[in-house]
Amino acid sequence: MISKTIQEQEPEPPSRGLPLLNDAFIAPQADALSFPRLISKPLHQKIITLPEGPNRRNSEGLIKPSARSNAFRKRFFPNVSAAKWSDWRWQSANRIKTLDALQRFFPASDDERAALSHPEGALPMSVTPYYLSLIDPDNPAHALRRCMIPVRAERVLGPGEAADPLAEEHDSPAPGLVHRYPDRVLFLATGYCAAYCRYCTRSRAVGDAGALRPSRMRWEKAIRYIEAHPEVRDVLISGGDALTMAEEKLDWLLSRVARIPHVEFARIGSKTPAVLPQRITRSLVKMLKRHHPLWLSLHFTHPDELTPECCQALNRLADAGIPLGSQTVLLSGVNDDAETLKALFHGLLKNRVRPYYLYQCDPIMGSGHFRTPVSRGLEIMSSLRGYTTGYAVPTYVVDAPGGGGKIPLFPDVVAGREGGDLLLRNYEGNVYRYPDAANAPGLANAPGLANAPDAANAPDAANAPGLAKAPDMAKAPAREAR
Ligand code: SF4
Repeated sequence: MISKTIQEQEPEPPSRGLPLLNDAFIAPQADALSFPRLISKPLHQKIITLPEGPNRRNSEGLIKPSARSNAFRKRFFPNVSAAKWSDWRWQSANRIKTLDALQRFFPASDDERAALSHPEGALPMSVTPYYLSLIDPDNPAHALRRCMIPVRAERVLGPGEAADPLAEEHDSPAPGLVHRYPDRVLFLATGYCAAYCRYCTRSRAVGDAGALRPSRMRWEKAIRYIEAHPEVRDVLISGGDALTMAEEKLDWLLSRVARIPHVEFARIGSKTPAVLPQRITRSLVKMLKRHHPLWLSLHFTHPDELTPECCQALNRLADAGIPLGSQTVLLSGVNDDAETLKALFHGLLKNRVRPYYLYQCDPIMGSGHFRTPVSRGLEIMSSLRGYTTGYAVPTYVVDAPGGGGKIPLFPDVVAGREGGDLLLRNYEGNVYRYPDAANAPGLANAPGLANAPDAANAPDAANAPGLAKAPDMAKAPAREAR
């Protein structure tokens, strides 16, 4: 059976095409402010039904709904079966995209109402019923709610913010293709996502019915570019969210990329297991398995996303032998504390997903309410490094505005040098000696060492926290590898 993409079923409204205005909002209307609470009432919205294929449910192996999902479904969708709820097409077709639709589940805050009353030119809102069931209806500051429901701050243009802060358009040799690093490319296969994250780096382009629509003609141009560049060995297929595409299209694209002799492997970027785990059907996984070596770069924000449904989806992917990695954006008031991130990273590892990047939030337009100081990120990294499994410690990176690429940031670990010894600060702040290879070729130019303060002149090293407590540095034992 040919499955349809949601893009084919219903085009998304245009995304951020209009200038941001700080005064783009008018005061919410009185009747909107006094909207009655409807949380306890079943929905009276038109529920979109989709035709059943004869054996579709059985052949796909539906993701089993959790008790929480079932309770939510019975409350708000009393006429929808558990099987229908677990059908990703039903979830996609019934996404919550307007203020009215949202308020059938819970009253929007004044801020959310004001933002949703004037969606023109903004990144669209789109939340699957499943993901909405995870949101706290009584707390506008709830982490998952802030990630999905727009507020007025999105329209406030802060200093240094831009629609395309990473200058992806500048490094785009073909429509929807970004070639920034020497040996790999980013292939923006679609502009569609099951849910739109309010902090999305590509909010200028996703949710748009035009520019990144999955079109064979556009893809062919990008493929021809890759074919002509033998240095490209790694293709990251993203968007938008590549796993929202019809299996046949994704299969075609993966097969086409695999036919390019110099491409060693492909990766897919996706938030689908977090926002629409029902999409990870057995049939999709079977198709993906045919394209090894294939890696998945997933996107998780908060431990609340690791639900029983999500874990089933992750385990299906891992059982298929697909290496899973996760990227997380550091977001103020959402996950900018060590305990939340530790819970997320531990939860991911338990599900065979390696957290590999923690991103400083990109300065897209209207992101001021999400961005944390870099010092906060470094502080969090200091409280992870050494205190938990190395696999649970991602690399903290800033994607340099203007197109500089990812730059890793580390808590200060090089305390200085003394003679031939390098002074290194451990996770507790204690300084240890490492007998460095003094005559190693290129030492003077080694990154990070050339500028390391000489111990003799380094007040830092002398007064480094923990230095006085350090056991005899000359005899400092080698630390256990992590
Ligand atoms: S899923 Fe990815 S591409 Fe889509 S809105 Fe979220 S961050 Fe952006």
